[in-house]
Amino acid sequence: MAEFIEKLNAVQGQIKEAAQKVRRDPASVKLIAVSKTKPVEAILTALKAGVRVFGENRVQEAAEKFAVLRETYPDIELHLIGALQTNKAAEAVAHFDVIQTIDRPKLAKALAKEIKKQGRSPRLYIQVNSGKESQKAGVMPEEVKAFYKECTAVYGLKIDGLMCLPPQGQDPRPYFIELKQQADCLGLSHISMGMSSDYPAAIEEGATEVRVGSALFGARPL
Ligand SMILES: *Cc1c(COP(=O)(O)O)cnc(C)c1O
Repeated sequence: MAEFIEKLNAVQGQIKEAAQKVRRDPASVKLIAVSKTKPVEAILTALKAGVRVFGENRVQEAAEKFAVLRETYPDIELHLIGALQTNKAAEAVAHFDVIQTIDRPKLAKALAKEIKKQGRSPRLYIQVNSGKESQKAGVMPEEVKAFYKECTAVYGLKIDGLMCLPPQGQDPRPYFIELKQQADCLGLSHISMGMSSDYPAAIEEGATEVRVGSALFGARPL
């Protein structure tokens, strides 16, 4: 517990510092605690420390871990930050409050159908493949506008934000700047960018949500 609180304080301190550097209100940056691969006990520690916003990358794992926790902590906000298969759209809509990884028409269509059917409406973000990496999910940067239009006009989805995961081992800042511009251009207020290694830079460039895992929970097994 003490160790987690120490890490949480450090991250919150850095968030505040980065926000103040560019004259932003630190409260305008939401910390998403990325608890993927971590056991329920670790999440419980975070909950006891006051954390309510979590990120998970697998639908099944998240559903299993959070079902019980939600009974005790109904104000949990759960974000899906990993690739979503179309055949898991129903489960994703049922279990997540935010789905950050919409990146293809087939998935948009499946989500639209489930949202209607279940009467649940998670917040939805488009994932952008900022570095145009072949192994990564996401819409190509030049296709974001057209895909956004398709999601809204064809599938009737309300898109609330953009998310990106820039290439590793490069300065992420140009990618953060680009994502911020794209979000502004589309009038989207949720900008999810920045992880343990680069969240201060992401905040300086306009992130409204940072996804921090290892800096809070320690390293993950590979
Ligand atoms: C795992 C993951 C994170 C958190 O990574 P850390 O480096 O541990 O902070 C953030 N975003 C996505 C999409 C992830 O998969």
